[in-house]
Order: sequence, then C-alpha cells, then structure tokens
Amino acid sequence: MLQEVSIKPADLSAYETIIKNGLLEEIQTLAKSLKGKRVLHLNATSSGGGVAELLKSLLPLMQNTGLETRWFTLTPNEEFFTITKKIHNFLQGRKGDLTQKEKEYFLRYGQKLSTQLDIKQFDLLVVHDPQPLPVILNNFHPSIWHCHIDTSKPNKNVWKFVSPFIRRYDRYIFTLRKYFGPGLDYKKLRFFTPAIDPLSSKNTLLKEVYAKAVLKKFGLHPDEPLITQVSRFDHWKDPWGVIDAYRVAKRKMPNLQLALIGVLAIDDPEGKVILADIKKYAKEDPNIFILTNLDGVGPLEVNAFQCASNILLQKSIKEGFGLTVSEALWKGKPVIGGNCGGITVQIKQGKSGYLVNTPRSCATKITHLLKNPKLALEMGEYGKETVREKFLMPRLLRDYLKLFQEFN
Ligand code: UDP
Repeated sequence: MLQEVSIKPADLSAYETIIKNGLLEEIQTLAKSLKGKRVLHLNATSSGGGVAELLKSLLPLMQNTGLETRWFTLTPNEEFFTITKKIHNFLQGRKGDLTQKEKEYFLRYGQKLSTQLDIKQFDLLVVHDPQPLPVILNNFHPSIWHCHIDTSKPNKNVWKFVSPFIRRYDRYIFTLRKYFGPGLDYKKLRFFTPAIDPLSSKNTLLKEVYAKAVLKKFGLHPDEPLITQVSRFDHWKDPWGVIDAYRVAKRKMPNLQLALIGVLAIDDPEGKVILADIKKYAKEDPNIFILTNLDGVGPLEVNAFQCASNILLQKSIKEGFGLTVSEALWKGKPVIGGNCGGITVQIKQGKSGYLVNTPRSCATKITHLLKNPKLALEMGEYGKETVREKFLMPRLLRDYLKLFQEFN
C-alpha cells in the first residue's frame, strides 16, 4: 500500500546558466556536510497536482547533491482519498465535520500503512500535506511536515482531529508565514515557497509553431486570442468564475477562446464531479475548450497551451502557492490571478499581471491586455525575471538543505 517511486538522477550543473549567480555554489557547500544522509519523502501521489510536480524535479536534484533520497506514495484508494480531499477542504476553512466513520477509516488506513516501511533505513523523514498524516512511522525523528496549503483559518472540528498528528513533527514548512495553523509550535515553523523546474518538459520554452500545432490538434484556432487556466477541477480554483470572466470579455472580443486545462488527480475524486458541472456551465460554447489528461493533455501539451496563450489565468479564491502562475510567468506571459494566497507573492500588481477579486475585474484586465499587446509583452518579461530570481527549483533545494542542516 506504500509505493516507491523511482527517482531518475538529474544533473544540478545543467541549471548553471539559468539560475542566479552563487546559488549553485551555495548548494554544493551545504550538500557537503549532508552527504550520504538517507532522506525519505512521503506524499499522496506521484502524478497530478502541485506536490507531485514538485517532487518529480526536486528529488532527483536532491539525490544528485549526494543525499540518498527515496520517494514513497500512498497506493490509490478512493474511499481514503475522498476523506483526505474533505480534510484538505476543511483545513482550508470549509464548514462541516468528518463523520465518526470517516475518522476511523482515516486512522485505520494510516495504521495499516505504518507497518509497511522499515523506517530505520532513514535519517530524515519529510511528509507532504495531510494525506499521509495518520501514517505514524514509529514516532520517527527528525521529521518534517511540509504543508502546501493554507491552514491559517481551518475548520475547528477537523483541526482538533488532525493537529495532534502535525504536532508530532520536529519542523513544519509552510509556503507563507501566515498559513501557519493555530496552536502549532511557533519555534518549529519554517517557511519557503515551492518552485518550478525550468528544465522539465512542462517548462522548456517551445517554438511558437509547435505550440500552435498542438492547439490546432485540439480544435482551437491558433491565430485567434486565447486565455487559459491550467488547474485541477477544484472549487477553490473557481473555474466557474473563469467562464464568467470570459463571457464578459467576449462581449468586446467575440473571437476570444478560453481553454480550461485540468488534470484529474488520483487523490482528488471530487474532480470528476466538478468537471461535469463545468461542462454544463460552459453550455457547449464552441469557443470554450475543456480538456484533461484523459484527452491526451500531458506536460508538453500544458506547456504548449501556456506558450500559445495571450494571457494565463489562475482565478483561485484560495491557493497555497499555485505553481501554474510561475509556470506561466516563466513563459513570458502576463498572468491574471485571484487576489489570494501564494498567487499574491508571484504576481506583481500591474508589473507582471493583475490580482483580481471578481470575474468582472478579471474580464476588464483580459480586454485591457488583449488590446495592449506591447504591455502584455513587457509584463511577461518582468514576470520571467521574478521567477528566475525566486521560484526556480535549485532555490527550493537550497532551502531544504539549509533545513536539513539544522539536524546535523
Ligand atoms: N497540471 C498539469 N495538467 C493539468 C493541470 C495541472 O500538469 O491539466 C499541473 C500544473 O502545470 C502544475 C500542477 O499541476 O504544475 C498544479 O500545481 P498548483 O500548485 O498550481 O496547484 P495544486 O494542484 O497543487 O493545487
């Protein structure tokens, strides 16, 4: 029920010409004292969603620096993942409670998983997000819980149930300081943002002609204006608001196209339901393209949509970080994002895009940017440099190594 994901080695020096000066040397110095440390990363799934995306690139680099890094995920189980998705929503503040039966299932499943790993093989444990929390690996230390969501105003009932598991850890990593959940030990708090991999097939820049050919393959008109949101089909990502914004903008730009690209992640059973609802909401508008991994949209295709769009949207109403924002900025595109969470640290208002609170203001910014391609270009360039400075993978590796050093 725990599955090991194989980690393909990656060469850190390949990033040398892309990242800012001095970072590579800093990583090498930190790594020297950690050489041979055996690190276990545990999370829900190896594909779909931001955490999987992150670990896929981070762990090969971690290994390359000399740490013996291994990655385990939880075997897909729809009942368990339905409960953990509820927990995810509750930790971000949704009202309600888990039933007693759900709590028992969550604990029982975790206990079963706990017996499956020989934790003595490791020197450090890193657990990502709430799904693996009930997996108690013999109260192993040192241990780190990396929380990728905002738990600052959690549902009180569910927080009471879940937070004792969190308190067992020696450190908590949060994306932003303000995401820190109530009652946790302040001294254990560390915070750093996630990052994107500029060398992955998702993020290496594609030629325009290739990107447009991908659009054509999916029935889009490659030379008409296009706005795209790439994200899981999730309430917090507000796909309905995106469609509303598109409809308002379309009044001024009748040939506007909207693509909603969404992966159906194994640990997110809610996605299918939301996808069906959005399709209904789109009312068979021929200029709205709703596509998923099941239609053949993989990392390259996501990249192509990001490269070929005039503007990228991430109109979330809650967002831990939103890797899609950095991915879009890295492609030199302006981004219009929801004025919340991690989006606000990525988009500089009026410089690399806009932060918006309503579909209507989103629509206003869409038409403004479509009418001002020079401005869109300038914003894209500005945004790309922000990502280079703050949100590329080697920086995340550095932050992790620094944290590991605290236990040396
Ligand atoms: N993603 C993808 N295909 C899709 C939708 C999303 O590959 O159809 C990727 C996206 O490019 C990003 C990640 O999934 O790398 C989503 O991470 P983010 O932090 O934006 O959101 P999360 O899913 O973690 O809430």
